[in-house]
Amino acid sequence: MAPDIPTLMMMVTVAAMVMAATLMAVAWGERSDGIKLWAGGLCCLALAYVLFLLRGRIPDAVSILLGNGLASATTSLVLAAICRFQGRALPWLAMLLPPVLLVGLLWLFLNDFNTRVTLTAVVMVGQTAWVVRALWERRSTSPGRGVRLVMAAMGLQAGVLLVRAASSASKAMGAQNMLQADAIQIVTFVSAFASLLVASLGFIFMHKERADEANRRLAALDELTGVANRRSIIAALDRDVGRAIRTREPLAVMMVDIDFFKHINDTHGHLAGDQVLRNVVDVIRHRIRAQDIVGRYGSEEFMVLLCDTSAQGAQQLAEQLREAVQASFCSWNGERLAVTVSVGVFGGRLEPGDGWDQLIHAADQALYRAKQNGRNRVELAPGLGRLAHPGRTGESPETFPSSLS
Ligand code: GH3
Ligand code: MG
Ligand code: MG
Repeated sequence: MAPDIPTLMMMVTVAAMVMAATLMAVAWGERSDGIKLWAGGLCCLALAYVLFLLRGRIPDAVSILLGNGLASATTSLVLAAICRFQGRALPWLAMLLPPVLLVGLLWLFLNDFNTRVTLTAVVMVGQTAWVVRALWERRSTSPGRGVRLVMAAMGLQAGVLLVRAASSASKAMGAQNMLQADAIQIVTFVSAFASLLVASLGFIFMHKERADEANRRLAALDELTGVANRRSIIAALDRDVGRAIRTREPLAVMMVDIDFFKHINDTHGHLAGDQVLRNVVDVIRHRIRAQDIVGRYGSEEFMVLLCDTSAQGAQQLAEQLREAVQASFCSWNGERLAVTVSVGVFGGRLEPGDGWDQLIHAADQALYRAKQNGRNRVELAPGLGRLAHPGRTGESPETFPSSLS
């Protein structure tokens, strides 16, 4: 039994209204990144379908011109929502042009059903292709599944509209008006129903994926300096220790501590101290290799992981970092704030059973000696002190007792 067209249209109307209301409830009072525009688009779609359903009961010009104009405005609003999500604005002209163009064309062919169907389908295929292009061009900004769902829904919609345009242009369509059933009509409205649900869910997914990514970054990075926080630098060290034991490549760890940092805070204030911390991080970041990792281990203490690096190599780099920090300064209220750092270095090959906490301990001891010996200097750890920590493995980074002073 073939479904009748008004029932299918009613399904699309109800689905669009329910989805619009749900999105509005989610976005109400929040920064919505396009969700409200998307919901506005769904409202236009619902209204368009109400006008289609009233065909014959209201003047044709209202049902045809306003209905199709609103249907085209739906895709314009979808495009505007995607642009807003991507952090750009869709110009008003680009938003208004397709619906206005479509209404103008339909007005010229008001009494020719087949031509109207062809024109409407062609304009909407163009709009849908525009949406897909906008998503594709900036796919790197939202690489998850959400964007693929939206593109799949838009692709389905464009495919069905192309078939609709071809069959109406070739006069192969069985239906002679909007509410009559034939295969093309049924496919059109079933796919409209499916793609509105899939695209809307995809758009919600895009927001969820972006929020998840922001949370992941928040959990992994130090807010002030933007480098790895203590938890993630220790996790990275744990990973690197395992790899260094397997590959027999040397691994080096540096502990970098700013000298007399408290004095900066006491003299110039905490905001100046924050600026100094960022400056020191910048200096370190610019001098290490892409595969090296820097993290904030504690208040004004940074840890640098150097894969495949010997003790001598790490010591050389530490000297360069120390000199670079000494030569740098940051401007604060017209003053130049300069600091020095002391660095403790451990480097060498690891053996099965060695643990990340031993590396930190060794580098920390070397740092302590650098402080004792006058600061603004580098000290190298003699070794891991394996006898003091025989066979330690498996402790979790989160449960490691802090070596921070
Ligand atoms: P030393 O040469 O022995 O390392 O002395 P120091 O003054 O650098 O070390 P100390 O441990 O005495 O002081 C560290 C100071 O770092 C104390 C604390 O108020 C400050 N601090 C910790 N976190 C932050 C931060 O995020 N911002 C600022 N501005 N200061 C911080
Ligand atoms: Mg210090
Ligand atoms: Mg310190």
